[in-house]
Amino acid sequence: MQVDVLIVGGGFGGAFAARELDKLLSRRDIDVLLVSPENFLLFSPLLPEAASGTLEPRHAVVPLREMLTSTSLMIGEVTDIDVGARTATVVSVNGDRETIRFREAVLSPGAVPSVFAIPGLHDHAVGFKTLADAIWLRNRVVRQLDAADAEPDPGRRRELLTFTFVGGGYAGVEALAELESFARDAVKAHPRLAIHDCRWVLVEATNSLLPGLDPRLARFTESSLRRRGVEVRLGTRLVSCVDGVVNLSDDGVLPYRSETIVWTAGQTPSPVAARWNLESDDRGFVPVDDRMAIPGIEGIYAVGDFAAVPEPDGGLAPSTAQHALRQARVAAKNIAQRYGVGDGARYRYRTRGLAVTLGKWQGTAQVRRFTFTGPLAWWMGRSYHLLMIPGLGRKLRVVADWTMALLFRRDIAQLGQLGTPSRLPEP
Ligand SMILES: Cc1cc2nc3c(=O)[nH]c(=O)nc-3n(C[C@H](O)[C@H](O)[C@H](O)COP(=O)(O)OP(=O)(O)OC[C@H]3O[C@@H](n4cnc5c(N)ncnc54)[C@H](O)[C@@H]3O)c2cc1C
Repeated sequence: MQVDVLIVGGGFGGAFAARELDKLLSRRDIDVLLVSPENFLLFSPLLPEAASGTLEPRHAVVPLREMLTSTSLMIGEVTDIDVGARTATVVSVNGDRETIRFREAVLSPGAVPSVFAIPGLHDHAVGFKTLADAIWLRNRVVRQLDAADAEPDPGRRRELLTFTFVGGGYAGVEALAELESFARDAVKAHPRLAIHDCRWVLVEATNSLLPGLDPRLARFTESSLRRRGVEVRLGTRLVSCVDGVVNLSDDGVLPYRSETIVWTAGQTPSPVAARWNLESDDRGFVPVDDRMAIPGIEGIYAVGDFAAVPEPDGGLAPSTAQHALRQARVAAKNIAQRYGVGDGARYRYRTRGLAVTLGKWQGTAQVRRFTFTGPLAWWMGRSYHLLMIPGLGRKLRVVADWTMALLFRRDIAQLGQLGTPSRLPEP
């Protein structure tokens, strides 16, 4: 297959690059192909709310076919790229292997969880990055509450209801806060349980939660979680979790059994750079210039969590969705310029604000040098995410979910069997 522009990855970087090219090149006869393993863009800022059931999980994604007009979509994975020869190998959803020839490319394969050789981690911990992770975690909390409700032994009940999150960045803090808020409501439907039967532990290796945010907000987040009974363990590392027994580097905490361990301790760029013979820095990011171009390789761009993007004031852009989608637009404009459309663009974006939701009515936000906490910050975070979601229909679905969640009690059905159809009985 021959295309003009190949886009790798249907996350924030890839999907928004394709969307911008749709707009810029709509009147031209230019073939743009997006290759993505999923047929949707996962709107990860909404993942914690999908996990807590405030939002219907399907509404935390945007179908790529709905979002794009003239870009073609191929569901599959790019297994190899030769940027010199301008060829890519794609294994499609059917398992077919196809060679794609292209002229320009936008590489946006994102990041993967960074893991370490911690005994028991691989067998007992789960990540928090995909929609499946969010759905699993919600069902897990409901299942643990049901199991604890039927458990007469208080010690065993405590083990069932102990949830440990390792990593106090945005993903870990938001996921824990949303699920704790969910459990707080769900526990009311279990007559034999009380909220203090649940133990929530947040382990962070540095001395502050939410690195990168204004320290005042980090402190507010910490005290808000502590007030809710969450054990926040700063300056502490997970040493092991063999058989679900959590051992922390803090000698003051005795090893304890936690049936649910969530690993949210950072991300590392997708490891494909080495396989694709792309130069990367010591942390695995592919360096680009302020036009998102990989230096020395004409017409090849990298964006998002995969790329080391220079910020206008020095340093590198953080790995966030708000940066990835703007980098994508810059890459698209520079590609369009190669086809005689527009003047191209340079990356000038500076972080304007950050928002962290901490469950129902609770949040922290920072807009330039102003900080906000509580219900106002919670509302600001939601409004900002709503603005980012592409398409009016999607926005309305999310608003409807949020409204329902405020008006009615949480849905505590455990739908863990979804995705596993029942077998017909033997004749
Ligand atoms: C739980 C969570 C909450 C977050 N909250 C926020 C937030 O509130 N605000 C914010 O700004 N950011 C947030 N982020 C960060 C944000 O999601 C990322 O910075 C953003 O998704 C980066 O975009 P990307 O395109 O680089 O990667 P992604 O969005 O991860 O997309 C990469 C895509 O590439 C695909 N891919 C990988 N390899 C290949 C291949 N070989 N071939 C084809 N496709 C491939 C992947 O399947 C994926 O779909 C959050 C992240 C998480 C995990």
